[in-house]
Order: sequence, then C-alpha cells, then structure tokens
Amino acid sequence: MSDLPFPPLLPGATIGILGGGQLGRMTAHAATRLGYRVHIFTPEQDSPASQVAPAVTIAEFDDADALGDFARSVDVATFEFENVPAAAAKALAEVVPLRPGVQCLEVAQDRIREKTFLNANGGPTAPFEAVESADDLARALEKIGRPAVLKTATLGYDGKGQVMIGPETDVHEAYAAMGAARGILEGFVDFQAEISVILARQDAERMAAFEPVENRHRHHILDTTVAPAQIAPELAQQAIAIAEAIAQGLDLVGLLAVELFVTAEGTLLVNEIAPRPHNSGHWSIDACITSQFEQFVRAICGLPLGNPSRHSNAVMRNLIGDDINEIGDLIADPDVKIHLYGKTEARPGRKMGHATKLYPLEAGGTPPRMPFFGE
Ligand code: AMP
Repeated sequence: MSDLPFPPLLPGATIGILGGGQLGRMTAHAATRLGYRVHIFTPEQDSPASQVAPAVTIAEFDDADALGDFARSVDVATFEFENVPAAAAKALAEVVPLRPGVQCLEVAQDRIREKTFLNANGGPTAPFEAVESADDLARALEKIGRPAVLKTATLGYDGKGQVMIGPETDVHEAYAAMGAARGILEGFVDFQAEISVILARQDAERMAAFEPVENRHRHHILDTTVAPAQIAPELAQQAIAIAEAIAQGLDLVGLLAVELFVTAEGTLLVNEIAPRPHNSGHWSIDACITSQFEQFVRAICGLPLGNPSRHSNAVMRNLIGDDINEIGDLIADPDVKIHLYGKTEARPGRKMGHATKLYPLEAGGTPPRMPFFGE
C-alpha cells in the first residue's frame, strides 16, 4: 500500500466540526473516545453537538472573523450537514485541511449538479431535467412523462420542497407548490425498496463500506433502517461498487452515504448522496465493530480504517417528535439501545433520538479466546 496522501493527525489533535446537530454530537462522542479534542461551530445555542464538546463557537456561517478564529484553532475541519455555505467552506479550506473537500459539498448541495455528476461517475439515476419556470416544467414533462417528482434544486431535505406530479396535476400549481424556485424534475421510480450504502474513503486504496441497509420512510422522513438489507448478495455488491465509484469520482476523504432505489425490475438507481455520516448508519454504533462515526474520525484524521463488519443484525427506529413518549417501553427491552440527542422541545418532524434493537449473530461455535491481548 502506498503512503497516505496526508500525514496522520494523532489523538490530542483538534477536530473542528461545522454544524451542531446530532451527527456532530455522535461524531464528537467517537472523536473524544479516541482521544481527540472537538470544536463545534454552529449558529445555534445549546445545540446537540455543543452539549458534548469541550469547545464551541456560536456564530453565523458568514461571520468571517469567527470562522477565521475557528480555523486557526483546529487541526482538521469537517462538516456534519451539507448545506454549509460554500463560501464559508472555501474560506476555511484556505487555512486548515477540510475533509471532505469543498468539491464534495458543491456536488451534494445542488440536485442538478449532483445527478449530472452521478451519471458521469458510475451512478445511474432516474431521468431528470432542470426546471426554472412553469413553461420549463411543461417541456420537461413532455420528455420525462408522468408520474414524475418535482424537487427544489437546493436546500430540500426530508421531502421538503418536493411535489408529486400525477396524470391530472396542473403544471403551474405544481411549480408554485414547489416554491417557484430553481428545480429538478425526476422520473417517478417504481421501487421495491430503498437502500443505502455508507462508505469510508481516504484514497483509492483505502476504502471500507458498511453493508447495505434497507430504509423505510414515514412522511418523507427516515423511520426505520433494517440492517442488513434483505437483498441478493450480488445486488449488495453492486450497490457498494456504485458507492466506491462515486467516492472515487469525488476524490472524497471522509464518509459518503449513497441512497439508492431497488427498482421493480431489480436494478439500482441512485437517489441522492451525502458526504457525511448518515441517519441510516446509526445502527452501526451498536451493531458493528467500528461505527460510522468512528470510521469518519479515522478517515479524516488519517488513522487506519476500522472493520465495519456487523456483529449483530439490527433494526434502527428514529424517535421523531412525539415518538419520544414511547421511551419507557423501548428502554424496558433489554436488547434495545437508546440514543437521545439532548433536544428539549419535541416538535413534529424533529429527530429527538433513535433506538436500535440488536439481534446478535450466532458465535458460530467458536468459543471466545481470552485474553485477547498479547497472545
Ligand atoms: P429525497 O428528498 O430526494 O431524499 O426524497 C425523499 C423520499 O421521496 C425518498 O426517500 C423516496 O421515498 C421519495 N422519492 C424521491 N424521489 C423519488 C423518485 N424520483 N421516485 C419515487 N420516489 C421518490
């Protein structure tokens, strides 16, 4: 194996994270366990990540002074959500290594750029057309056909800014309902399942994928992840190969989540990508030898990647809004691991935490060998 493309950062170094949500919180847990320091940059007071990090800057992303001070105080910077303004990311990258790099953010922030990039880099998608007006939408519908899905090109997530276009849908109403913004029209995919692959990459020789998982959504928000996905091994391999090709194309250092549809015909189409830890990887905290968060830290700090194999099958359920009231029943199940994000107000649609039920794999008859050091 050749040398890493950058010198490793050893424990004791400081990881700067843009964003204060639960992904930052769980990354901070993994980082501090490995002996790193963590500095969170977020506009939000008392955010999930800042509750567990020793250093916090509370400022807007366009506050150049605060960003500069932050950049000088950390050894590597990353982000826990992809809508960090590109200008802020670029300014940061001039002072400190930003992993993954700005190019990954730029691709993931814009659905048109994203799907164009995917198609050119081994990631098949549904057919799509860029749309900038109701007239554009009418023309795009001629090409794509109905049903179709209209989405905002930027800043859409969890089904926000998304409109289903059926046989009778009025073009002007659909364009207005999407927000009359720059948009993308996608062919409707008749899927049998939605799966995702999470992959860590440092360079072409250092990649490690978690097994594909199946994701079920409720009201456009991830509800349940089943690990592993109940799909043929060849399809799982294909999904991993697609994720590897995309990570290569992005020259990504860090973590990449790839969401895919398994179509009615049994083929794979990529829906979207995220260059960061992902909700569909939360099961790995309790069910894998290395969690997605530890793997993320290892990847961006240049440590050897850990083994992503699972030691248990798992079902992860998001606790969204009032689901939090079920906590008493969940915690009474001794095989369920509970993770709460420190959010005080349970608004509808708000991710308050998650619960992972573990189904340990048989040990295969081999007795565990003790001690495991120094043999
Ligand atoms: P997105 O915001 O792109 O992740 O979409 C949210 C959810 O909407 C997906 O997880 C799918 O369940 C559904 N969806 C998005 N795009 C399509 C499509 N082109 N065809 C069918 N369903 C879709």
